[in-house]
Amino acid sequence: MDFSLSPEQIAVQQTAREFARREVDPIVEETDEAQRFPREVMRKAGELGFLGVIFPEELGGAGLGYVDYVLVVTELSKVDPSVGISVAAHNSLCTNHIHKFGSAEQRRRWVTPLARGEKIGAWGLTEAGAGSDAAAGRTRAEKVPGGWRLDGSKVFCTHGSVGDVMVVMAVTDPDAPRGRRMSAFAVDRGTPGFRAGKKENKLGIRASDTAEVIFEDCFLPDENLLGRRGEGFKQALAVLDGGRISIAALGLGTAIGAYETALAYAKEREQFGRPIAEFQAIRFTLAEMATRIAAAETLTFAAAAEMDRTGKVTRLASEAKLLTGETAVFCSERGVQIHGGYGLIKDYRAEKFFRDAKICTIGEGTSEIQRLVIARQLLAETA
Ligand SMILES: Cc1cc2nc3c(=O)[nH]c(=O)nc-3n(C[C@H](O)[C@H](O)[C@H](O)COP(=O)(O)OP(=O)(O)OC[C@H]3O[C@@H](n4cnc5c(N)ncnc54)[C@H](O)[C@@H]3O)c2cc1C
Repeated sequence: MDFSLSPEQIAVQQTAREFARREVDPIVEETDEAQRFPREVMRKAGELGFLGVIFPEELGGAGLGYVDYVLVVTELSKVDPSVGISVAAHNSLCTNHIHKFGSAEQRRRWVTPLARGEKIGAWGLTEAGAGSDAAAGRTRAEKVPGGWRLDGSKVFCTHGSVGDVMVVMAVTDPDAPRGRRMSAFAVDRGTPGFRAGKKENKLGIRASDTAEVIFEDCFLPDENLLGRRGEGFKQALAVLDGGRISIAALGLGTAIGAYETALAYAKEREQFGRPIAEFQAIRFTLAEMATRIAAAETLTFAAAAEMDRTGKVTRLASEAKLLTGETAVFCSERGVQIHGGYGLIKDYRAEKFFRDAKICTIGEGTSEIQRLVIARQLLAETA
């Protein structure tokens, strides 16, 4: 679809498309089967600026906007949503948190190597007992002379076992009102008392690393506190506004990948003496998929453009994430149906898109939580 992209944006899109074709496509099945994080792909993605799309050039980034960022994540996710989510989590969560709330010194220390792709970033908000209700987290950061002592654990962290730097939300003020109890900290891999726990064996996006992280008597100096004490949860919500745009791009790319795979198969597969694309049931299914993708694409680019323009996107980002996530699940399921029995066989990509799509309605807030956010916003707007 033409969103009046500038020549520079079209060049970014083509670079990402070509990168996905050349570097990602040949290893999709291998990394999925082995649950192998493709560090070599991430290193090359870093060289092209994909690990620092939205950060200034003086901090090692590509100095581009959210529309460019959506183009990159969409193109990668069309080929492998595992790579799409890794690039999204690295940019939007860890690096953006430090860029948005860190001091000039903290940006120089952590954003620069992350944006250049020399380091991989992780971000920990979710806990075993605090998922949708993230403010209920219990990982504790206690004030001690010269710094903080962390104890607790986070679950489901993207890059939890392969990350070099992690942003973690921990309770510094247990008696403060809800939402003001946590502060955010940057933690380097190798810090004593900080280690990866269980690496998850997942349904989909299996090449994207997801692991528990554990803090045991882990000392962090005062310089590792990001922004002000007590504002960690508020910061996390702001970070998720941008993150949800990248997860919308993940959903969009997944939906397009599933649709294009199904379209090609429908033209090629013959039954009853003709391509199945000639049967009305299949044509209507393809039409439904294409229409939902067009709507999801429009909303995702609207959210990205609004982010570039005003930065105020809470409602639009949640709407885009909700619609693209549900569209990815719909299109990938229909894609399997169009493939018939071959839809269940790993020789075809349809089954992988079907497995990969489900994260889009769960990660960075489930579809139910997006509806809560949207409703809260629209009621506030009309109060
Ligand atoms: C592969 C993967 C990668 C992830 N990466 C990260 C990461 O990098 N960092 C990080 O911090 N987290 C990460 N997460 C965690 C993710 O954000 C959470 O899984 C998600 O927010 C949901 O939390 P939960 O799994 O505890 O589900 P729960 O909160 O237990 O929800 C269970 C069900 O109840 C519903 N529900 C809950 N509350 C309500 C309500 N108030 N109203 C209606 N329905 C409700 C939910 O929608 C869902 O259907 C990741 C998760 C996965 C699976």
